[in-house]
Amino acid sequence: MTPARTRDFAGNKAFLPRKPCAVCGRTMTWRKAWAKTWDEVRYCSERCRRNKGAAAVPVAAPDG
Ligand SMILES: [Zn+2]
Repeated sequence: MTPARTRDFAGNKAFLPRKPCAVCGRTMTWRKAWAKTWDEVRYCSERCRRNKGAAAVPVAAPDG
């Protein structure tokens, strides 16, 4: 019973780390599933992970 120690994570979502998805730019909020790999997480979803190649190419207007 140490209430003082729970203040960091007691449902305080505003306290969680965030960073933008490398592909779509959507803000990703820290998840428990990413606790061990947060530094490596770069994509918000499997879909973006697969699209990472497309993101490396700047948006270009089609010829014609
Ligand atoms: Zn994304």
